Amino acid sequence: MVLVLLDNFWSNMIPTESHRDRMRLRKALSLFTILLVASSVFGWPQQSTAPASSTSLSASERELAESIKSETIKEVVTALSADEMQGRGTAQPGGDKAAAYLSERFTKLGLKPLGSKATFLQPIKFRDFEFMPETSVKLGNETLNLGTDFVVTPPYSGDKSASGAMVFIAYGLSSSTPKRDDLAGIDVKNKIVVMLEGPPEIVAKAAWKKAKAQMGIITSLVGQGVAGIIVIDHGREEHPYSETATYLTRRQLEPADEEEFPPFLPPFLTVSDAAAEKLFANSGVTRAEALSRAEKEGFTPINLKQTAKITVRLKKGKGVGNNVIGVLEGSDPALKAEAIVYSAHYDAYGLSADNRIYHGAADNGLGVAEMLAIAEAFSKSATKPRRSIIFIAVTGEEYGGFGSDYWVHNPTWKIKQVAADLNFDGMGTEVYGPVKVLVGFGAEHSTLGAVMGEVATALNLRIIPDPMPDEKAFYRSDHYFFVKKGIPGLMILGAPDGETKAWTDRMKQWEKTDYHQPSDIIRPDWNWEGPRTLAMLGVVMGLRLANSEQMPAWLKTSPFNRERGTNEPAPPEP
Ligand SMILES: [Zn+2]
Repeated sequence: MVLVLLDNFWSNMIPTESHRDRMRLRKALSLFTILLVASSVFGWPQQSTAPASSTSLSASERELAESIKSETIKEVVTALSADEMQGRGTAQPGGDKAAAYLSERFTKLGLKPLGSKATFLQPIKFRDFEFMPETSVKLGNETLNLGTDFVVTPPYSGDKSASGAMVFIAYGLSSSTPKRDDLAGIDVKNKIVVMLEGPPEIVAKAAWKKAKAQMGIITSLVGQGVAGIIVIDHGREEHPYSETATYLTRRQLEPADEEEFPPFLPPFLTVSDAAAEKLFANSGVTRAEALSRAEKEGFTPINLKQTAKITVRLKKGKGVGNNVIGVLEGSDPALKAEAIVYSAHYDAYGLSADNRIYHGAADNGLGVAEMLAIAEAFSKSATKPRRSIIFIAVTGEEYGGFGSDYWVHNPTWKIKQVAADLNFDGMGTEVYGPVKVLVGFGAEHSTLGAVMGEVATALNLRIIPDPMPDEKAFYRSDHYFFVKKGIPGLMILGAPDGETKAWTDRMKQWEKTDYHQPSDIIRPDWNWEGPRTLAMLGVVMGLRLANSEQMPAWLKTSPFNRERGTNEPAPPEP
């Protein structure tokens, strides 16, 4: 899953919708809608392939589910997380190696290529960059170091050389309620402003967000000609500096067709608490005192009596990463034009400049392996689904779901005939023991939720509500890009029996130590029956969705209830 680090301060500066999404909605009724109406008018016969009870398994469903092999899952995770795969970095040689491995497995299963030029690969152009060692901040004789002391934050707009006198402007806010003018009596032109991420304590976060206040303040500061912006923590941050620093010092990646930020933007930096202390060293005010003044009415800017010299140097590159896509053709002459998609991202953070391998065993070797076990079960079964089944191992997920975003905008299947997306991604909670509990992210939005519920009951599994709603997992993986495009999607998490807190605590601990780190590797205590159960659920759900008369539908109550292939912007994230 993607970690959303910058959800307040910078989110408004970063385009979360690609420019393709901003295209105007086509209003014409789709051919599919017409067909649906026709089918209800003429009362086309229902095929009776459904099991007697939807909460028990038919013989063919049971056979299909039982044929899921935990050995396959173990074999695939082992191969994908091996050192040779170099962390499957997007647009890196390790990523290419993993794509070749997945293509070979698809070939052996008899899937048909659904990439470009009769291959399984769909190439996507990326640009990437890393910070060069010259990137630094100088305060007089003192030098702050990248990573330990400061990080350069988005928006990135190329190399920067900036210097100027520093001034602390609290939140940079000018308003009547609360009554404050953080820039009182100063001209910030050519200055380096040191500031806090809003809102001030007395302003409600929701109101701040709704007013897009942060965006307004930053835009205004840039307009007034600041030389640079340095953000310090006030201690209420969702993500501590150290966590932010591990991500923002890594290789960065974005699609080559995304617009670049204009070069006139000043550098944006965030500093550690220790470095923040140094910014205040000559001012006669400590960092703590400045923080306390910042919350009070009548705050006035603090001259830091120091000049900072900021140098940002980027090593830029270009590369190609690939989605790996195969299809199993449906058996019904009419319905086979429609398809159920299974997705799982195969990328991890790759190989770093200092040769560390981000193995990505749990995130998301497991998800890919579960998908391949499902593909294997389908391809070897005598039961042939009526609709076609597409398997997409996507790339570029960790940097923002780029592979799935690319596919839904450059689909290799008619987008209006993509029935649903079932996505496998997560934190590896399915290896904590035999899976008995499920969470369906997105289940409340479409009929996929009911199908999941029935299959879960048939498999003796219990569905629980999302135990960590704060993590907003629904918005953080590949299914969400399908959802935004009007295609019902679901991400399925599996967990062991017992108290929920026991496994969420274990997961939170793992998040601190191994998530998105080189140490995300296979552990000896992993229970391989867990991911098998998850794949069993997935395969039966896929079969039912492939065989039912109608494609899954959005619930009327869902904000995502829009036609497949929509170009309307998605409803705002909470
Ligand atoms: Zn993931």
